[in-house]
Amino acid sequence: MKRYLVLLTTLAIWIGGAQADPLAAVQVHKINDHAYALLAPAPVEVPNKENGGYVHNSLVLIGDKGVILVDTGSHRQVGEHIKEAIAQLTPKPVTHILITHQHGDHHLGSVAFPDARVISSSDCAKQIENNGRGMVAFTRRMTGLSLTDTQAVVPMETVVSNSRQEMQIHGIRLELMVPQASHSDGDLMVWVPEDRILATGDILVNTVTPNFSDGNLKQWITVLDDILKLPAQTFMPGHGPLMQHKDVVDFRALVADFYHVVEGVYKSGGVESDVRKKLDLSKWRKLSRYEQLMGSNINRVWLQVEADNF
Ligand SMILES: [Zn+2]
Repeated sequence: MKRYLVLLTTLAIWIGGAQADPLAAVQVHKINDHAYALLAPAPVEVPNKENGGYVHNSLVLIGDKGVILVDTGSHRQVGEHIKEAIAQLTPKPVTHILITHQHGDHHLGSVAFPDARVISSSDCAKQIENNGRGMVAFTRRMTGLSLTDTQAVVPMETVVSNSRQEMQIHGIRLELMVPQASHSDGDLMVWVPEDRILATGDILVNTVTPNFSDGNLKQWITVLDDILKLPAQTFMPGHGPLMQHKDVVDFRALVADFYHVVEGVYKSGGVESDVRKKLDLSKWRKLSRYEQLMGSNINRVWLQVEADNF
């Protein structure tokens, strides 16, 4: 009987634990004494049943009176997961949240931080306000989770498109940069000049196939050129391991080559299906989700090249 009880208790703890937090451990990367990258282990950029929706990278900046958090994840539990990891680093509360872009895997975890001020670009805030429910429904479908406790949080402070805004929060100087277009409408990058850290959201992804479907690749390449002019030491992509200058140069070359191949085929009178034959696929094949995204990526850029040459 006693043994049975012990077993039952163990099982209850295990089930309780599994229910409380079934997500993979946060990979904490210390950048300096007050800056940490919290990296998701899953090298993909979409929530699914296997990863439970934990796929994004967060940046944590610990200031004199509180914490600034960049991106919060794809639902409440992911937000709580990040919150626990931050509590291991500092007792200070998260007071400011910066959202890099409108895709749900980067901001639906904000609901776990009810006391924080949430900041994004104005285009991103508009998208969250109009499509927040749809974003939760998408994550529900992808993960199979009920997500009854997750609602989209509309950012209360915004930065307009095509601008750079300086801020000082808890003694940390930040520059929020919103390019006109790149990965999606209203991407916001966080530049921390003193620490030489740039958090880019999905304008950079590492070991993951970039998704062109909501973006403008031609302008995206220009943004990558601008990024490369910054004296950044640490580039934090939206998904995948941290990057250095050389990795960003390689990423820029990969996506610029993609655009130029599509443009070349178009201008020489070819058809969309010729693009795959002309692309150097050896580098793309190494990236996760290459097969799922290659068709839609070619289609999107083809339409853009058509419009750019109209
Ligand atoms: Zn993403």
